[in-house]
Amino acid sequence: MSDQNAQVSVVGAGLAGLVAAYTLQRAGATVTVYESSDVPGGRLKSRSIDGQTFQPMSQTLPSTAPALSRLLREIGAIDKLRRTPLREVHLFENGKNRTIALAGKAYLRGMGRTRWSRPPRLRRVRDIIEWLAERVGRDTPAETTRLDDRSVADFTRLYLGNRAHQSIIAPLLDAEFALDSYDTSRLTLTVLMNPWAEPEISRLNDASFLIDALADSCADLRVNRKITRLDEIDTPIRILAVPATDVAGWVDLSPREEEFFKTTSYARELTLVLKTDGTGESTQTDAWIPPRQGGSLRRIAAIAPNILLLSARLRWGIEHWEDEDAQLTHSLLNHAELVRPGLRDTLHATEILRLEQTVPRFDVGHYRRLATMHRDDRPRAANRGVFFAGDYLVGPHIEGAIVSGMQAARDALMRLGVKPGATSAPIGGS
Ligand SMILES: Cc1cc2nc3c(=O)[nH]c(=O)nc-3n(C[C@H](O)[C@H](O)[C@H](O)COP(=O)(O)OP(=O)(O)OC[C@H]3O[C@@H](n4cnc5c(N)ncnc54)[C@H](O)[C@@H]3O)c2cc1C
Repeated sequence: MSDQNAQVSVVGAGLAGLVAAYTLQRAGATVTVYESSDVPGGRLKSRSIDGQTFQPMSQTLPSTAPALSRLLREIGAIDKLRRTPLREVHLFENGKNRTIALAGKAYLRGMGRTRWSRPPRLRRVRDIIEWLAERVGRDTPAETTRLDDRSVADFTRLYLGNRAHQSIIAPLLDAEFALDSYDTSRLTLTVLMNPWAEPEISRLNDASFLIDALADSCADLRVNRKITRLDEIDTPIRILAVPATDVAGWVDLSPREEEFFKTTSYARELTLVLKTDGTGESTQTDAWIPPRQGGSLRRIAAIAPNILLLSARLRWGIEHWEDEDAQLTHSLLNHAELVRPGLRDTLHATEILRLEQTVPRFDVGHYRRLATMHRDDRPRAANRGVFFAGDYLVGPHIEGAIVSGMQAARDALMRLGVKPGATSAPIGGS
């Protein structure tokens, strides 16, 4: 198929772009996907250490991940999603390993019985829960941005107190979602947690099956094809599923869009990959050493029986980004040894990974800017025939990437005058 015949072009074969292409194809559109790298997957691309492949992500998903569940059901792979409620985090403090229970509802009930029993405090907690319970929809973030858009840290300290911040929210965001509670908008919490239930966190052991299935379903996927100007593609409808930082300069942006893309940035992550002899490494340890204890480590994740990822605490990683690999390895291993004594003796290979782009930062104000841009520039964007997709538009995670890909496909189909809905057979299913 030539570029001229394609009705829709998708630039970027990360999860968002592949989902957009999949959704468009199921509705009968002809799609060409352009990917600059030699393989699809984007940030979910696999890596290898000592001959063994692994995915460098920490595999945590928000408690409710309906789009991912639906997609996995469609492609016949729902059994690969393991939902593990996160009930505790191990905190290493003052030379001791302590376990913190992270049961959301129970914690709040407990607060009601003890120092939170005074009615005004309880009312506040109830109000907070009501805010948190509201999902932030892509089309309606403005309505849910009631009052202010404080950082998570300010927000929880003000309404739930310092103790709740220190013992639940900060470790949870830092260890599980790689988000710093000082920099992150509190609205992110609404998409990450369901406060009516226990904070159920899902783990996806390896997302490569999802990428492979979506890529296989692409009728026309062109790898090693970096797009540098929009006029290289002459289809009337184009979906840009590249990171926000790559969009500026491509399209004629409105001032609001320009402001949004300029202020969208990504978190960096420093990770030590360990190949071990595999004994007893099949479980996940959420070990968090607080900054005041000088902790370099935020998480030990077993992603395969013999592969461990030691993720650095976010701020520590940024401060030590330029350090020698040997120095970083030494520090992270020292802290991991506090939680897992004898780890060093089981090692076969180590590698420091410096990931420049992990998750988009949902800093304070991000949702507000997104809402304004979406409300005011939507008709203009539709006329332009260029739609955006990527996790930075919905939420800093896989679910966000999937939802944004589906939404961009729906917008493109509307522009083409095609009714969204499956017309062709789903992949992998009958
Ligand atoms: C270390 C790490 C840990 C993570 N942890 C979690 C987690 O615990 N839970 C969770 O839910 N999510 C996590 N994520 C985030 C998750 O991986 C992303 O949200 C998701 O993969 C983003 O997909 P995307 O399609 O929006 O972007 P990307 O994956 O960045 O895709 C963009 C694609 O566009 C291509 N591209 C760029 N420029 C061009 C061009 N000019 N021409 C053609 N192609 C181009 C790129 O090569 C890439 O393939 C993590 C990510 C990382 C890296």
